[in-house]
Amino acid sequence: MIKQEDINKHRYSIIPNQNLLIGENWVSSKSGKTQSIISPIDGKIISELQVANNLDVNEAVLSAREVFDKGHWSNMPPLNRKKIMLRIAEIIEEKILELTVLGVRDNGTEFNMALRAEPGSAAGTFRYYAEAIDKIYGEVSNTSSDFIGLIQKEPVGVVAAIVPWNFPLMIGAWKIAPALAMGNSVIIKPSEAASLSLLKLGEICLEAGLPPGTLNIVTGNGKQTGQALARHMDVDVLTFTGSGNTGRQLLEYSAQSNMKRIYQELGGKSPNIIFADAENLEEAAKVSTMGIFRNSGEVCVAGSRLLVEDKIHNEFLKLVSEYSQKLKIGDPLEIKNDVGAINSLSQLQSDLDFVEKAKSEGGNIEIGGNRILKSSGGFYMEPTIISSVKQDTEVFQNEVFGPILTVTAFSNEDEAIKLANGTDFGLASGIWTSNLSRAHKMVKKIKAGTVFVNTYGGSDNTIPLTGVKQSGNGSDKSLHALDKFTDLKSVWMKL
Ligand code: NDP
Repeated sequence: MIKQEDINKHRYSIIPNQNLLIGENWVSSKSGKTQSIISPIDGKIISELQVANNLDVNEAVLSAREVFDKGHWSNMPPLNRKKIMLRIAEIIEEKILELTVLGVRDNGTEFNMALRAEPGSAAGTFRYYAEAIDKIYGEVSNTSSDFIGLIQKEPVGVVAAIVPWNFPLMIGAWKIAPALAMGNSVIIKPSEAASLSLLKLGEICLEAGLPPGTLNIVTGNGKQTGQALARHMDVDVLTFTGSGNTGRQLLEYSAQSNMKRIYQELGGKSPNIIFADAENLEEAAKVSTMGIFRNSGEVCVAGSRLLVEDKIHNEFLKLVSEYSQKLKIGDPLEIKNDVGAINSLSQLQSDLDFVEKAKSEGGNIEIGGNRILKSSGGFYMEPTIISSVKQDTEVFQNEVFGPILTVTAFSNEDEAIKLANGTDFGLASGIWTSNLSRAHKMVKKIKAGTVFVNTYGGSDNTIPLTGVKQSGNGSDKSLHALDKFTDLKSVWMKL
């Protein structure tokens, strides 16, 4: 059980200025440029980050390619690779408190959630894929008897990963661990708004014995560093988590460079549908409240559109509003707080702009809508609930990625489905009903990669996170994620 005083030991430690990890060296950028890391907790500068340019990115790719071709990792016996990845998981766990506090200072996620979802989850992910390494088989096909047809699984080579700021370590591990498990080399670019914990992971990987060059880390902004990586001619696969706008650009970069394969995990605008026959409305309201407001709504699968059957609309709205108002918002490193800070001032401004837009579109602000705790210097916002939101409005259609819940009433299953599927997104969804056949019918009709039934949220390495429609392609997590980092080689052998 972690106590407040344990957290306090780490929260004021000086964070040295950061460098890029290229091969075995921690180096400064050839651009000579750095940028300040601002903590959303109090708006203060906590460190400096290198801004990698084309030359740095090129060196990182060369380093990844060289180690891949030499086979230091790709040809290492599977059992040895497994041992190193298990050691990475162990060290993450040994440093769990340090990693959590570092990450929270960087991105503002509430401590309790960060502990579980960041290093806690990343350790589990490394362990899961480490355990898979010596259980992956090729196939022998059913050809005529004068041939043997072998289908071999091979690493793709050099994998680039670009990740967002909301859960850098968790999402970073979802990319790095399966790519390494298949024998690839990796270059990762974290978001400029949350790089510290992934840089720490770089140190941990070297300490665990990962051959230098197998994991390289380039920091900087998306326009420069991210673009250089996505346009590089020697990256075989790009795995990305982030917004649809960036996703579109990455597809262009791929087409304009070497047609590298791109796997995208993009945004969501997930419906959470409450039927009047839900078994326990109080429980549904409590879970739905956390389904949107944990991590200040900065969660890709956040249940941001509440669709409520008209018979219970007012009662349910009251329950959710009451639970939301009980949430303690504030310093994410105080264990007592339920919800932490918004990641950056620009994200906070974008959230507040959505409130104004929603008002102008006829939405009713039931609770919240304002910046709070401004005197702390940090970026905090009240949980905000907007009712009477119509399908054709911006706040219904667009991902806010902040603490804003819209509420829309429906009168029957068909209308619920129409509303649920009525955006360009298809990431997650929720259904609350005690009618089993209704639940099955709805699961089939909802266009989303994940459907939560009588719950909302939850994550496990064994279950893929997949987006449909404009929420992406490919899957993070589970054994399916290995396919993204695997080439199939067909061998025809004449007997
Ligand atoms: P962005 O798309 O803005 O950024 C994601 C990453 O891409 C960052 O590292 C960013 O760098 C980089 N980037 C930005 N522009 C470019 C570019 N032109 N070329 C290459 N790289 C670029 O998303 P956010 O960081 O704001 O993250 C929030 C989004 O991520 C939301 O839409 C959310 O739903 C989605 N998400 C999806 C998940 C899923 O599993 N489907 C999980 C979590 C989040 P930098 O920030 O340094 O500029």
